[in-house]
Amino acid sequence: MGTEPESWQPTGLERFESADGFAEYADNPDLEARNRAILSLLGPASGRRLASHTGRCSETDLSSETGLSSETRLSSKTGRSAQPDQAAEQWLDVGCGPGIAGRALERSGRTVFSLDASRPALASGPPRPVCASIDTLPFADRSVDGVLCLEVLEHLPEPILHRGTEELARVTSRWLLVGVPHRENLARNLLLCPACDARFNRSGHLHRFEVPNLLALFPGFRVSDRWVGGPKVRDYPGWLLWVRHRVARRFSEMSGLKGNCCPRCGNRTFPPFRHNLLSFATDAVNRLLSRRRPYWLLILLEREA
Ligand SMILES: [Zn+2]
Repeated sequence: MGTEPESWQPTGLERFESADGFAEYADNPDLEARNRAILSLLGPASGRRLASHTGRCSETDLSSETGLSSETRLSSKTGRSAQPDQAAEQWLDVGCGPGIAGRALERSGRTVFSLDASRPALASGPPRPVCASIDTLPFADRSVDGVLCLEVLEHLPEPILHRGTEELARVTSRWLLVGVPHRENLARNLLLCPACDARFNRSGHLHRFEVPNLLALFPGFRVSDRWVGGPKVRDYPGWLLWVRHRVARRFSEMSGLKGNCCPRCGNRTFPPFRHNLLSFATDAVNRLLSRRRPYWLLILLEREA
C-alpha cells in the first residue's frame, strides 16, 4: 500500500511503548485547530444523530481545496449548538496518546475512553485510560457511539493494520472519525541510519493514505464528512527526491532533532543535517516546482444501514 520499497519497516508496535514522541505534541497550535475541526465535524453531542447527511464529495473536489478553504468550509457549518447533551455519546479514542483530542471531546459533553498501547501515553492524563492494542480492543461489538483514531493507521505494520481497522469497525455502533496525513510523500522524510544503513521514515509512517484507500479499509461504512487542514507541507517530485537521496546523499532535514531512533538497530545518534551544493540546488528547484498543501485529512465515516 504505497510503501517505499527501499525503506526498512518494523513488524511490531515497539515504537509506541516508549515515551518518545509524545512531548512533541505539547504546545502545538495546529492541534488546537484540528480539535476545532473535529468538533465541527461531529456537531453537538448526540445532535448528530438527528442531522441529515450530505453525500460524499469527490476526490477532485478535495484536491482543489486549500487548507484555508476547507477550514472556511467547516466554519460556515458551525451554526449548530455547542451545548452538551444529557444523553452524551460515548466515544473510544484509539491510539489516544496524551489525549489532546479526547479531552476536547469530553469538553463537548461526550464521554471518552482513551485507549493506547503505551503506558507513558496513558500516564499523561487522557480521560478513562485503557491499555490495549488496536488489534485486540477490549470492548464489545457496537458498544460505543463512535471511535476516534487519529494519526495511528499510518504507523501500523501489516497485518496489524487490517486487524486493527476491523476492530475499530466492530466496536463502533455508528461513527468512525479517522485522521491521517493526507497523500503523504513517505520518502520526503526518510532518515539514513549511520550505524546500519537502514532507511526509514523518521515519523515511523508506513502507509500513504487518501480518501479511497482509507475508505477501502472500512467496508460497510460511507463518508459522511471530511476536512483537510493543518500545517502546510511541500510536495517533492519522486525523480528530484531520487537525486537528493542517491546523488546528493542528503535525507531528512530533521535528522538532528531529538527522538530519532533507528527501528532496525536502535541507534539514536544522527548527525545534524547539512546541505551540500546539490541538495541545496534540488530544494531550490523543488520550491519552483511544487506547492505547499495542508498535511492532515480527517474523515468522518458512518456505518451504512
Ligand atoms: Zn540502524
